[in-house]
Order: sequence, then C-alpha cells, then structure tokens
Amino acid sequence: MSSDRLFREPIDLHTHSRVSDGTESPAQLVRAAREAGLGTVALTDHDSTAGWSEASAAARENGVTLIPGMELSTRVGWSSVHLLAYLFDPSDARLVAETARIREARLLRAEEMVQRIGRDYDLAWDDVVAQTNPGATVGRPHIADALVARGHAPNRSAAFAGILHWRAGYYQPHYAPDPLTGIELVVAAGGVPVIAHPATVSRADLALEDSMEQYVEAGLFGLEIDHRENTPEGREHLRDLASRFGLALTGSSDYHGEGKPNRLGENTTAPEVLEALIARSSGSAPVY
Ligand code: AMP
Ligand code: FE
Ligand code: FE
Ligand code: ZN
Repeated sequence: MSSDRLFREPIDLHTHSRVSDGTESPAQLVRAAREAGLGTVALTDHDSTAGWSEASAAARENGVTLIPGMELSTRVGWSSVHLLAYLFDPSDARLVAETARIREARLLRAEEMVQRIGRDYDLAWDDVVAQTNPGATVGRPHIADALVARGHAPNRSAAFAGILHWRAGYYQPHYAPDPLTGIELVVAAGGVPVIAHPATVSRADLALEDSMEQYVEAGLFGLEIDHRENTPEGREHLRDLASRFGLALTGSSDYHGEGKPNRLGENTTAPEVLEALIARSSGSAPVY
C-alpha cells in the first residue's frame, strides 16, 4: 500500500506565506519546507489562494509535494473559528465571492483598529501598508509589524499580548460566515475541511460538540489536534469527539516564517490521514 503513495513524509498541513500573514514568499516557504526535511507541505494562507501557482512551481523544483489549501475565516459570535480547506476548486464562484468579501471586511476592520490605536499611539494606516504585501489578506499581524516598526512593541507576540489583545480595547472582529456555511462552501467546491486548532485557550468555551453533528453531516473531515496552541485537556476532548464522530486527526505547525515561533514540521500528520484526505477531494490535485 504505502509504496503506492505519491507523496513523502513528514507531512505538515498548515503554513502561511506573505500572501497572508507569513513572512516569506510562497516559493521561499516551499524551499524552507525542503530544508526542514519535509516531504509534503500544505500552503494555507488566510482567505486566499493567490499563492498556489508560485508554490506549485516551487514544489516541482524542490521535490516537495504541495497540498494547495487555505485557512478560511469563520465566526461564532465573537469567537473566530478557522477552517482549513484542502484541494478545493480555486475558481469556485461562491468560494471566490465569499473570500473576497472576507478580505474586504478584514481590510476595513484593520483600518478601523489602526484609527483607534492611532488616538493613543503614533501609528498611521500607511505604517501598516508598508508592512503588507500588495493584495495580501490583512490581519492583526500586519498591524503588529507596524507597531514593532514604530517601536511600540519588541515583536509580533508582544504586540498580540498587549495592544492587539481584545483586553486592550482596540480589538474588533470582522465579518466571516458561520462554520457550517464555511464547511458547506468548501465541500461544494470539492474541498476537504478540517477545523484548525479547535482547542486553544480562547476557543475553550465554544462547545463545539453541540454543533459537531451538523458539521459532520455537512462534510467535515477532521480536527487539527497536534497544534502547539491546543491545550492538553482540549486534545483529550478532541480525541473523544473524533472517535464519536468518525473524524480524522491532523497535526501541523501553523508556520508563519519569522512572524511566530512555530517551526516547520514541529507537528505532523499521518500518511494514512493524508491518503484519506486526498481520496475525499475532487476540486484540485496535489502537486507531486
Ligand atoms: P486576525 O485574524 O487578524 O484577528 O489575526 C489573527 C492571526 O494572528 C492568526 O492567524 C495568528 O496566526 C496570528 N497570531 C495570533 N497570535 C499571534 C502571536 N502571538 N504572534 C504572532 N502572530 C499571532
Ligand atoms: Fe495567521
Ligand atoms: Fe488559525
Ligand atoms: Zn494558521
């Protein structure tokens, strides 16, 4: 069986490039994946597929398998729920429209947050633009980089723990569909959805299991269990949910280049899980 597989291990199914809030170009990221010894990497920029073609070319050049993906923003009340989506059709009209709407909402929300921060700190929208690749999905990490450049924080993590934390009073949510709608959109586009880091401290109160049956019926494939931000108790709970609902379990780094401490390959996914994921997909193919 395993000799039939076209992809190699280790497998890391969650990374970001400068197309969203990572610090490397898609090609640099793929090269970094090879240097880190990965056999397979998924590019999962927030709400965008703009890095797929560059990453695909780099994957072919570097002998790394690429799983094209995305981390779709969804939301339950004030809590954001991230949905990893793999191997969907990037030209699917509904998904294209929804991600455009989310990116637009993220941009307006970032401008509003910066306006509020600017009342208390020397910070202007141009500072954020200077930290953002043209066309990138804008997020708090870009505001963090601007705060660092202005000397208001030593690094991204400190900015997140301080000025960008909801407790500081500048935080604002942005439009995103609810998770069920997100799952339906991804599945309709031939993709395979996995809930990203479902057991972080901030998601502890989400009571995912109340909605799990609906999510599974809509085509949810798995839960990202091995992620540095999932709590130990949370992982136990995820294991239980997965066995009750027949869900796959994945592991990944959520690498953001220099933007986060997460290192490529620090968590990985079993080859059997990736095999099942690929078998479930019909929207696009891995790049071998
Ligand atoms: P946003 O979606 O704009 O609210 O920003 C959330 C993003 O910021 C997530 O994608 C995280 O990867 C990133 N993030 C969260 N915490 C940190 C941190 N401490 N350091 C760097 N990036 C972070
Ligand atoms: Fe991110
Ligand atoms: Fe995320
Ligand atoms: Zn991520």
